[in-house]
Amino acid sequence: TTPTIAFIGLGNMGRPMVSRLSVAGASVRAFDAAPAALEAVRSAGVVTAGSLAEALNGADVLVTMLPAGRHVVAVCSEAYPQLPKGALHIDCSSIDIASARSIHASALQHGLQSVDAPVSGGTGGAEAGTLTFMLGGEDAAVDRARPILEPMAGRIVHCGEPGTGQAAKICNNMILGISMIGVCEAFTLAEKLGLSHQALFDVASKSSGQCWSLTSYCPVPGPVPASPANNGYRPGFASALMAKDLGLSQAAAGDADVETPMGALARALYDRLVEEGGGDRDFSGMIEFLRGMSPTGGE
Ligand code: NAD
Repeated sequence: TTPTIAFIGLGNMGRPMVSRLSVAGASVRAFDAAPAALEAVRSAGVVTAGSLAEALNGADVLVTMLPAGRHVVAVCSEAYPQLPKGALHIDCSSIDIASARSIHASALQHGLQSVDAPVSGGTGGAEAGTLTFMLGGEDAAVDRARPILEPMAGRIVHCGEPGTGQAAKICNNMILGISMIGVCEAFTLAEKLGLSHQALFDVASKSSGQCWSLTSYCPVPGPVPASPANNGYRPGFASALMAKDLGLSQAAAGDADVETPMGALARALYDRLVEEGGGDRDFSGMIEFLRGMSPTGGE
């Protein structure tokens, strides 16, 4: 029998993800607390619900795509008592490991299955249905989640026990935050050295500096037409969320007694950018922040 999916959280990621599910023929009921987000999904042809309770009515699968741990915990505490025994919760949000574990424990208490399933690939990957999903959970729950995630996925990796999906995401995004700053610094320096954006891109994208932040998400307009730099740094992936994820990796590193000095520096830079009002803009907007840091300013 086809599952009936309550999909909660229709922001920059949830909106294209639920569209993929809907187009693939899944039975979905989408809900977001923000009326504008709900309306955008409804006008794209997805079935929406007017409340969380309405979305959950008749659902045997709950998918969440929310900003942070506290939002997921809040939705779960309302949703779990309403779900039938044996229902499956797939949390695709990027959240802290402690919240992820407490959600798994609560699911168990309510007789539910749960999987942490954060994603990588950005809004482009969500639109194309090519996200990488990192799954933490018991084998049975993971096996059940796979076909549900398939229409949104390019790759699904079972990372291990509950919480290990979030661990993979935290480590991945520490690489991403560090690499984005590195790419932004290189373009900022190139501008002062008389090296064009395109020339640096043509070299580095085919050389040892190659990375996702450069070739899929280039922080200057031009070389990668779909990157947020071509769209005034509209997210995409907001800097506030990157700062959150770098905070999560620093918290995890602290708990595990691991030194991650570059991760700490990346966190400090994104925190400053957010404090100075750049939190709502795409995280590749770091380049504008860096230009502003140099005594002679931008180009
Ligand atoms: P977003 O802020 O655009 O969307 C989150 C949505 O959740 C909003 O529309 C908000 O109204 C809704 N929401 C919050 N609390 C709610 C509640 N209690 N009930 C119902 N709806 C609620 O965020 P996003 O960019 O879509 O990211 C979602 C998650 O995915 C985050 O954890 C983020 O770190 C992660 N992520 C984002 C990207 C990206 O490129 N944007 C990539 C990978 C992972």
